[in-house]
Amino acid sequence: NQWAYKSNPLIGVHSIGKVPLGLKRKGLRIVVTGGAGFVGSHLVDRLIERGDSVMVIDNFFTGRKENLIHHFGNPRFELIRHDVVEPILLEVDQIYHLACPASPVHYKFNPVKTIKTNVVGTLNMLGLAKRVGARFLLTSTSEVYGDPLEHPQKETYWGNVNPIGVRSCYDEGKRTAETLTMDYHRGAGVQVRIARIFNTYGPRMCLDDGRVVSNFVAQALRKEPLTVYGDGKQTRSFQYVSDLVEGLMRLMEGEHVGPFNLGNPGEFTMLELAKVVQETIDQDAKIEYRPNTEDDPHMRKPDITKAKEQLGWEPKVDLRKGLPLMVSDFRQRIFGDHKQDAT
Ligand code: NAD
Ligand code: UDP
Ligand code: UDP
Repeated sequence: NQWAYKSNPLIGVHSIGKVPLGLKRKGLRIVVTGGAGFVGSHLVDRLIERGDSVMVIDNFFTGRKENLIHHFGNPRFELIRHDVVEPILLEVDQIYHLACPASPVHYKFNPVKTIKTNVVGTLNMLGLAKRVGARFLLTSTSEVYGDPLEHPQKETYWGNVNPIGVRSCYDEGKRTAETLTMDYHRGAGVQVRIARIFNTYGPRMCLDDGRVVSNFVAQALRKEPLTVYGDGKQTRSFQYVSDLVEGLMRLMEGEHVGPFNLGNPGEFTMLELAKVVQETIDQDAKIEYRPNTEDDPHMRKPDITKAKEQLGWEPKVDLRKGLPLMVSDFRQRIFGDHKQDAT
């Protein structure tokens, strides 16, 4: 059965306004900005499955209708082509605010637009939350820690960010988005939640978005060399998308504002990641070194103690388990076949 709602008795039952925590709710009205993107579309799947009504707002800069096509025709699903930089009037209970390109290649493409999306877009969604009394969740990023001088990073760390560099449109944009979120909370009493997301991968990532996991996987499948930037000794911690979505939903439903680090503490150098990709896809894949990009953070690893204690959340899918799930999806999209990945 393709549609979860067919067997769900709660179709069309909406709650109005704020819903006290702890009550069993029926069919919330939820906005997901950026819902046609990688993370957003997986979140939408879970919300629809849970019985909620979902409105996606997306300008399709990096998102695709294909990511949501399985919900077309479902009366509990709406897709609105809209840019969050412009105001919008809707009646909703919760707002998951994800709209913003996440790959460095995409967010550097038009940096002023990235700032507008993070600042004006977030302002508009907070204005909407204030007007209708909705709860608002911001998807911030580990990039707020910049090139960190504390390792692993705790939420209490204020970060080491270059305010005038090529990554600043994103880093400083998200930092301002966090500031706006807290000011609407303190000043206007808006219920808010802040997630700081660490590198996340999985099915539906854009094939050529320039991020390291998608690059390596696509390159290995196409029998191209894996492009390692710099000396490959820089580290990242990679989280599988289902773990992130679980964390975002727990955060939204919980009682804590945050910020919360949501990431997998498993830390890898880029050369180690290349090795895992070789083991998973092609032992003979070659490595090709390229110059690194400007201001690239040397290391990144979340301290998730706070999320464990306050949200009861921790990631379940490690890289060696998650990567094959993404490889099957990439294989299908690159070669158009439906062979299951052997691993
Ligand atoms: P993505 O690029 O796949 O999705 C972003 C979505 O937002 C796309 O559908 C895009 O079309 C839409 N969008 C962009 N600008 C918009 C605008 N002005 N108006 C309306 N829609 C707009 O990225 P993702 O990986 O799914 O990331 C989702 C969110 O999570 C982003 O806010 C990102 O900053 C945050 N995040 C992601 C990661 C990660 O590793 N994926 C890490 C840290 C933070
Ligand atoms: N806004 C919106 N939808 C709403 C309410 C507000 O898009 O339902 C926008 C509004 O256009 C403004 C921003 O959110 O640009 C901030 O709204 P707020 O009411 O906080 O500030 P003000 O409009 O008073 O400057
Ligand atoms: N990187 C790489 N090869 C690639 C793409 C990226 O070695 O083909 C490196 C990049 O220099 C950075 C790390 O991988 O050190 C993570 O980059 P990504 O763009 O995925 O995410 P970031 O954490 O920088 O936002």
